[in-house]
Amino acid sequence: MKCRQFGSTSRQVSQIGQGTWNIERESTGTAVAALRRGIDLGMTHIDTAEMYGSGKAERLIAKAMEGRRNEIFLVSKVLPSNASRKGVIQACAATLSRLNTDRLDCYLLHWRGTYPLRETVAAFEELIRDGKILSWGVSNFDVDGLAEVCGLSTSYPPVCNQVLYHLEERAIEHAVLPWCAAHDIAVVAYSPFGSQSGFPAPRSAGGSVLQQIADLHGVTPRQVALRFLLQHPFVFAIPKASTRAHVDDNAKAGELELSTAEVARIDAAFPRGDRPRSLPMI
Ligand code: NAP
Repeated sequence: MKCRQFGSTSRQVSQIGQGTWNIERESTGTAVAALRRGIDLGMTHIDTAEMYGSGKAERLIAKAMEGRRNEIFLVSKVLPSNASRKGVIQACAATLSRLNTDRLDCYLLHWRGTYPLRETVAAFEELIRDGKILSWGVSNFDVDGLAEVCGLSTSYPPVCNQVLYHLEERAIEHAVLPWCAAHDIAVVAYSPFGSQSGFPAPRSAGGSVLQQIADLHGVTPRQVALRFLLQHPFVFAIPKASTRAHVDDNAKAGELELSTAEVARIDAAFPRGDRPRSLPMI
């Protein structure tokens, strides 16, 4: 699996990682086996959140990581309702306990809520000083929020912004992606297959373009889609997969190379559209 530098950290992180939203809906054995298979294949960037299954996803990850914590770039997220100065510290302690680890590699604010950002950032800085987290970031932040949050921390700047990004939702390319690249902030593409809204059907105009390119390379349309999203050197993707076949499929996208002409075809088949008034999120 190819790795790239994660924002302003010195860490090399797998371009393709593993999402865990709803993974607790699988049996423990299935979920843990899928995550372990992903780790074996180098998808060591694991994304979770206290929200996922109300902590169940974090507990499953703890089992999957047993004996392998040092291989993992572990990310979790605090809910906005816990993002007060004290709330972040308490939420992080609970997350570390469920994950059975002493530190997170990165801790994110899941989305902006009503607590002042300055409180949340102060708590993140305290957690870094205490060694409980190694870096912090945000999720679902548009450029105005990013500019505000970057102005709040002088010692430890945010290292990533996790945002909705898939072929049929390319809004971040207008402003968020260029802004993050200019400020050394990694962009983590969540729901890279469109999540519940689904992946482009093979018979749709865009789906047939993906299928044709996939056939030429002997790969799957999802691998083509992942590779397209990862073209930009600041982007990472965290597909969620709960079967071994899906995990294997996603990992193979790490090796795929698309030609300039193929990228142009995909670009035309899935136009990014006009800049929306607000950043889409799910
Ligand atoms: P997603 O990764 O776009 O899609 C997941 C779906 O795709 C599942 O149904 C999965 O099926 C299927 N799938 C995965 N690999 C496949 C393959 N190779 N072939 C066929 N189907 C495949 O959706 P997501 O879970 O919404 O997003 C990914 C992760 O992003 C989440 O798990 C979470 O960690 C993160 N996220 C963050 C936010 C945020 O606000 N920050 C929001 C949403 C998601 P199986 O499960 O059956 O394998």
